[in-house]
Amino acid sequence: MNVLIVEDETTLSREIGIFLTKENYSCDIAATKREASEKIWVNEYDFILLDLGLPDGDGLSLLEEAKNAEKEASFIILTARGATGDKIAGLNLGADDYLAKPFSLPELHSRMQAITRRRHGLKKNTIAFHGFLLDIQNRTVFFAETEVTLTKKEFDILHYLLLNKNRVLTRLQLTEHIWGNILEDDYDSNYMDVHIKNLRKKLSAFSESDWLETVRGIGYKVRVI
Ligand code: CA
Repeated sequence: MNVLIVEDETTLSREIGIFLTKENYSCDIAATKREASEKIWVNEYDFILLDLGLPDGDGLSLLEEAKNAEKEASFIILTARGATGDKIAGLNLGADDYLAKPFSLPELHSRMQAITRRRHGLKKNTIAFHGFLLDIQNRTVFFAETEVTLTKKEFDILHYLLLNKNRVLTRLQLTEHIWGNILEDDYDSNYMDVHIKNLRKKLSAFSESDWLETVRGIGYKVRVI
């Protein structure tokens, strides 16, 4: 999943970025409101971590702008401790959660996972599908007692398709959400096809994988009832 960190304290944004990258998120950083606004306009993020006190304006107006543009990203507001008014204003504008600074990075990650569960209607950090079980926390996939060995990319693709089950995702959408910003010129759609092909092959060794559908000319869909 891809994250935009909007924060003018560069030490903090770098720390968050390093931590979340290790947790397999793809991170982008903006230090000003203007920079953040440009990035939000051109990219589709899964999460936006938003500091409210930016050097060139108020983070809340950025949140409002993104919501008006019907951006799908989940927002977590990063506030100064005790700034109750900011928290309430942020939540009322549609933010999903807030954290008071200083916060622990594992707590940030737990809250992001909780938002992901809520957003996709999951009750826990595992997803059961067609006899398989994907564990989000441990990044494993099992078929009964046997682990299906996937590469990091194959896992990320399967995870993202499952979160968006029964919905067609274009190759570009998948690539952007999993690996972050990509330059359209460098974008090679074959790349995703190769990963999907390998993924199918590995899953098929355990059970029929026709539920991982190719939607001709568009992209992919995971069919799960
Ligand atoms: Ca600040």
